[in-house]
Amino acid sequence: MITRQLYNLCKTIVRLNRGIHTSVMNMQEQEHPISRTVRILKDDLTNFVKTPFQGPTNPPNIFPRHVDIAIIGGGAIGSSIAYFLKEKTGLRGVNIVVIEKDSTYSQCSTVLSVGGLRQQFSLPENIQMSLFGADFLRTLKKRFGPDADVYFTPNGYLMLASEHGAQQLLDNAKLQRELGAVNKILTKSELKERFPWMEVSDVEAGCLGLEKEGWFDPWALLGLLKRGAIDLGTQYINGEVVGFNFDDQQDIIVDGQLSGTTQRLEEVQVKLPNGDIKPIKFAYCIIAAGAESGEVAKLAKVGNGAGMLTVPLPVERRKRYVYCFECQENGPGLNTPMTLDYTGLYFRRDGLGGAYITGLSPQPDEEPCTSNLEVDHDFFTNRIWPLLAQRVPAFNALKVKSSWAGYYDYNMYDENGIIGAHPYLYNLYLATGFSGHGIQQSPAVGRAIAELIIDGKFQTLDLTRLGFDRILVDKPMYEVCIF
Ligand SMILES: Cc1cc2nc3c(=O)[nH]c(=O)nc-3n(C[C@H](O)[C@H](O)[C@H](O)COP(=O)(O)OP(=O)(O)OC[C@H]3O[C@@H](n4cnc5c(N)ncnc54)[C@H](O)[C@@H]3O)c2cc1C
Repeated sequence: MITRQLYNLCKTIVRLNRGIHTSVMNMQEQEHPISRTVRILKDDLTNFVKTPFQGPTNPPNIFPRHVDIAIIGGGAIGSSIAYFLKEKTGLRGVNIVVIEKDSTYSQCSTVLSVGGLRQQFSLPENIQMSLFGADFLRTLKKRFGPDADVYFTPNGYLMLASEHGAQQLLDNAKLQRELGAVNKILTKSELKERFPWMEVSDVEAGCLGLEKEGWFDPWALLGLLKRGAIDLGTQYINGEVVGFNFDDQQDIIVDGQLSGTTQRLEEVQVKLPNGDIKPIKFAYCIIAAGAESGEVAKLAKVGNGAGMLTVPLPVERRKRYVYCFECQENGPGLNTPMTLDYTGLYFRRDGLGGAYITGLSPQPDEEPCTSNLEVDHDFFTNRIWPLLAQRVPAFNALKVKSSWAGYYDYNMYDENGIIGAHPYLYNLYLATGFSGHGIQQSPAVGRAIAELIIDGKFQTLDLTRLGFDRILVDKPMYEVCIF
């Protein structure tokens, strides 16, 4: 990165050299060492000095051959990591490049998500990460300036339990309160009183979030994180990671491996839009490639190497549909919570004009094909609508207005984030697999990875249990579903 100091230093060297060079010429003596250095580096220095200092908001558009940290994927997770690393180390602390293959972000999970934020989880780590997400959204203006806005709609989630899941709902709500969330358990009759439009004969209890829950514009959050990272000196490169180069580690011996066969990741190969493939050397690399993280990890031999590398990163694309519909007659009003039904259905209001959005996680045998983002309208008609109409009789009459599909960065192992260093490739970090709750956790994940790399350990939230190691020792971190 060209800094003001370096720029001034170069100008001084060139000035010095001019003076020295003249006297040397006059004296017809042997070439002066500084003059020789400048002559040899002439082209480099000329380019360097000619490149105007553009300030931190505009890092020079020079392809970096060597960086401290390479982040693969510039969605909410990758951008948050870059932002927090830079926030921690200062403008010139570490040299970071974010490699993003699609600068339009047309298919990335972040912009296709519905931007929900809740603390209604069963794992303390998930609750705490989302609490930090809420705090982060509150401090946006302080961090990013007075215009920073993600258009947050404060509105509680309402999680509904049948008789079977009621005790778990109570236990979860208690844990959430202990960790700082604010919620209220509603009995069947309290639910009916508060939400008269809801059919609750099959519901035993509900948990309503009273604070720090709602939804926001994910695109706006991505924009702020990315802008923030760039302002602090991060460079974004439009290119696709297509491979890695390794370095043999003769001096490191790993149990069960022949000595001298240990390797570390050294370079990432980046395919540029013009087809050129260029390497970038790095000290650390982070895979934050969303739904494609499992495929990117394979390029680093995770899942197709030997020993510990036989275990893949279990993250793959899973297509999820979102449908927007209108219900003008007697539809639930503005106090409609983001309702999560025990059937897996969710719905909430979308704006002030009688519109709603809805979705449903498919059963394993219903998983849609992932080769495109086409929407299956029969899935709404056959699977979602009956559930909607059962829960809210007014939804018997509705009209679908639009729909879209996006990919979950789905962790096939236990549907939760995988956060931290790879146990064998020690300069490779993973931040992926959030399976439907990654956007709200992106600030906490960014902060966590920055702590791991810069401080050597988690400082604020201990996310050790969400590391890749849990897959090796087979300790899944399931969210307990409410039925
Ligand atoms: C329909 C839907 C609804 C959702 N609702 C919510 C919600 O309510 N709340 C919530 O918290 N979360 C939600 N999520 C999940 C959330 O969107 C994701 O968990 C989160 O956005 C993941 O962010 P990411 O940065 O890891 O992935 P992405 O946003 O997908 O970013 C990854 C980036 O990596 C890039 N990339 C991939 N491979 C390469 C490569 N080889 N080289 C270079 N770049 C590469 C991609 O182009 C992409 O831009 C939802 C997701 C979907 C699809």
